[in-house]
Formats: sequence, structure tokens, C-alpha cells
Amino acid sequence: MGHVNLVTGGAGFIGSHLCEALLARGDEVLCLDNFFTGRKANIEHLLGNPRFELIRHDVINPIVLEADCIYNFACPASPVHYQFNPVKTIQTNVMGAMNMLNLARETGARVLQASTSEVYGDPAVHPQVESYWGNVNPIGPRSCYDEGKRVAETLFFDYHQQDKVDIRVIRIFNTYGPRMLVNDGRVVSNFAVQALRNEPITIYGEGSQTRSFCYVDDLVRGIIAMMDCDGFNGPVNLGNPGEFTILELAEMVIQMTGAKSELVRNPLPKDDPTRRQPDITLAREKLGWEPAVPLVQGLRKTIDYFDALLSKNGD
Ligand code: NAD
Ligand code: UDP
Repeated sequence: MGHVNLVTGGAGFIGSHLCEALLARGDEVLCLDNFFTGRKANIEHLLGNPRFELIRHDVINPIVLEADCIYNFACPASPVHYQFNPVKTIQTNVMGAMNMLNLARETGARVLQASTSEVYGDPAVHPQVESYWGNVNPIGPRSCYDEGKRVAETLFFDYHQQDKVDIRVIRIFNTYGPRMLVNDGRVVSNFAVQALRNEPITIYGEGSQTRSFCYVDDLVRGIIAMMDCDGFNGPVNLGNPGEFTILELAEMVIQMTGAKSELVRNPLPKDDPTRRQPDITLAREKLGWEPAVPLVQGLRKTIDYFDALLSKNGD
């Protein structure tokens, strides 16, 4: 018999792909979400599966459930959404982590935390290795997310040390793919939607800042590999080492859509990291994992997804 998995944030972008992959291998899935940025549409196709259950709940409140594996993904990930109510974002990160750790301690479940490359802040070390402590502003607009995720990591390792909770910590780098929201606010969805509508492409700052984009299917393989891996707690970077400037990304999207969009310059948001690229040596060694989907291929699938969605909405 397969595992019983609890996926918090399971109706979100990454969470819904994770639920799907776990069901596909014969596991049971309890999908928990408060629908802040998640949508029923993301998991609608799973509702008929007898191994799938949906629970509306906010992770800042404790909950008692039986599961062998807990994937803690509840938290808005787009700067636009996590800055909407920063205090709530910290609560979600800190209280959500504590509630899932308490549940794991009570039940003996293994618990995996979706941490982030944001723990490295605006990194002074490039590419980022897990041993780097980061460069994070504690009182800036991104702090509710960055520091919240850093405290969550601290809690995970303290519960492990103090109470022997079986933890896993992954640091996810920019991930994209179908089921991102049209109004998500992150760069790949913004550019794809703007290009498909022939609207101006919004470049923040000069567009010379870099990111490394991982296709969601690759990421989900890495998440499950880490949960299944014995004797290794992490933290481990999961991301695609291909590094692109934001201008390069805009040009690729325009070329792939044939859009007539012009580029417009908007102000660079405060504390926007200048460079980001994962060193995935550890993931390769410990998990035998590396991404397989190049950016052009993943962008094609993502653009096609938004194209179908916008046509359906009469956009
Ligand atoms: P998302 O916004 O699509 O998903 C987050 C999900 O969590 C949503 O379904 C939302 O409704 C739910 N949620 C938010 N607050 C909650 C709460 N208090 N209680 C219950 N549910 C709540 O974002 P995503 O990109 O799928 O990110 C999922 C996780 O992965 C997040 O923890 C995020 O920090 C992490 N992550 C994502 C990326 C990325 O590039 N996508 C990078 C690093 C880390
Ligand atoms: N960005 C941009 N235009 C947009 C959205 C984002 O130029 O419409 C830039 C943003 O300033 C950042 C990069 O793209 O430098 C990635 O932003 P995103 O919000 O996707 O993720 P994060 O900054 O958290 O990595």
C-alpha cells in the first residue's frame, strides 16, 4: 500500500502538481488549503479519485490528521501576494511550520518543508551553495517571506535536534509552469500573459538581474526524491542551474508567441535580488536528481497553457 500524504498548500501551483504525482504512483493524498492563492480548479480533476481528499483549513491553526508524510507548501510565493498581508505571511510560515512539526512529532510522520532560494537574500556568493548563510534584509518588503522561511528552517532543525522529528528541507529556486495564476505577479506568468495579449512587457529595472527557472515537473520529481531519501535531512537546493537575465526571458517569450509587445521599464522593487543560480551538486550526489526540461521547452508548455486559458475566458 502507498503512503498517506498530507500536502499543505495542495491547491496551489506546485502543490497541485505534487498531489497529482503522488496519486499517480498509488499514494493517498490529503490536500489542505485555505484558498488564498490556490484554486479548486487546480485540483478539480482529482476530486473523483477515492485516494484524494480536500480539506479547507488554515495552517496557522493546529489540526490533527493521520499521515505518514507531510509536505508543507502552504504560503503565498509571489511577492505581490506575500506582501499583500505581511503579518499573515509570517504567521503562515512560522505557525504553519510549528503546527506541522507538532503534528509530525505526535504521529511520527516525516515532514518536508518547502523553503526557498530567498533564504540567500541578495546573494554575495554565486552560484548559491547550501552552506552559504545569505544576505537578507530583516526589515524590508520581502522580509515577511524571507525571514519567515528562515525561521521555519530553524524550527525544522530544532525540532529534529530536540525531539528527533524526521525532517526534510528543500530550498526551491524560481519554478514555473501551468496552473500559475494569470494575476500571479511573478515574471514568467506576467510575461506570458502580457505577450499573449499583445500588451507591453513590464521589465522591472534594467532587466539585467538574473534568475534560474525550473519547470514544475522537474521540481516535483526532486521533491518526492527528497521525501523518499533516507538518512539525509538537507537543506538541499532544487532548481535549474540555467541562468538568464530578465531581458533574455522577455525576448524568448516575445519570440515564442510572435507578440507585437513593446518592452516598458517599471521601477525595480526594493531589495530585488541581483543574481540567482542554484548550485545543485548536493542534489545530484544525494538524490541523483537534476532537471531535464530546458527553458524553451517549459516555456512552450506554459505559454500554451495560458493561451488555452485566456481563449476560454474570451480574453
Ligand atoms: P502558490 O501561491 O500557488 O501556492 C501556495 C498555496 O498555499 C495556495 O494554494 C494557497 O492558497 C495556500 N496557502 C497560503 N496560505 C495558507 C494558509 N495560511 N493555510 C493554508 N493554505 C495556505 O505558490 P507556489 O508557487 O505553488 O508555492 C508553493 C510553496 O513553494 C510555497 O511555500 C513557496 O514558498 C514555495 N516556493 C515556491 C517557489 C516557486 O518558484 N514557485 C520558490 C521557492 C519556494
Ligand atoms: N520581474 C519583472 N517584471 C515582472 C515581474 C517580475 O521584470 O512583470 C522581475 C523581478 O523584478 C525580479 C524577477 O523578474 O527581478 C523575478 O521576479 P519574480 O517575482 O518572478 O520572483 P522573485 O523576485 O521572487 O525571484
